[in-house]
Amino acid sequence: MYIRNILNCLVCNDTDFDLYLENINHTCGILKTLNINEKIDSNIYKCKNCSHLFLSPVLKDELIANYYNDISSEYFNNAPIHSRINEDKNFLNRIQKIKQKGKVLEIGCGNGFFLKLFKDYGYDCTGIEPSPKAFNYAKEYNALNVINGFLEENTFEKESFDIILLMDVIEHLYSPNDIIKLCNNILKAGGILVILTGNINSLNARFWGSKWYYFYSWEHISFFNKTSISKLLNIQNFKILQYNSISHTGGLIYNIIRFSILNPLMYVYNFWIKGKYKHISLTFDHILVIAEK
Ligand SMILES: [Zn+2]
Repeated sequence: MYIRNILNCLVCNDTDFDLYLENINHTCGILKTLNINEKIDSNIYKCKNCSHLFLSPVLKDELIANYYNDISSEYFNNAPIHSRINEDKNFLNRIQKIKQKGKVLEIGCGNGFFLKLFKDYGYDCTGIEPSPKAFNYAKEYNALNVINGFLEENTFEKESFDIILLMDVIEHLYSPNDIIKLCNNILKAGGILVILTGNINSLNARFWGSKWYYFYSWEHISFFNKTSISKLLNIQNFKILQYNSISHTGGLIYNIIRFSILNPLMYVYNFWIKGKYKHISLTFDHILVIAEK
């Protein structure tokens, strides 16, 4: 009723899978938000053809779409905490080395803090964001040109952008192939696509197994590794320029505290240790891929 199984690999469309991890630890409150009171188990499968890993079953499309309208969605939760600002500047610097100016589109821009950074550095910026609340925030507070909705065909002119950003977004998509294809259509020749996502082959992900913090949410459907993200991009004729291992929001210490010690220490960590030693982030369990059309 609430769920559906994934029948085809989200990257290569193959139907032959191995069970990779059982009973994923979803600690998020999505089911509660959607008034679903039953316990639903979900597993991670690995495609035998392209090695892509994905969640199944997943919440039905209309349920997750409803959830993205809710304030508690991860999309909305990206206030400019200190560690995130440093991280965003680091990403901006990497992108600036390839393209110093031009038209930028961020798909799933949330409150717009990352996109605002590009605007401050002189880029011509547009955002697209499904959560109405995040959209309003990006528009009103960050004064950005934002569209409320999902990326669909004909939303933008062909070959009109120099840079497209998909930061913490691709893992949420039920049809990542379609979105990469659309990105290809609306990027100029020589334009770049920037993708940030979790890396299930990282040491941190392997260490935590089914308790890797990245599995916390029903929002995360796809779990990429270097092989599968390359395959996804190559299918749509992108050429990979860079592949970087990144430690993204939450480090090794964060994970240890989160899963082994309870809330009081979490409080100390969040408001003191993390604030003071914001450089402590050693997981390297995300990948930042920059690809060229
Ligand atoms: Zn596959």
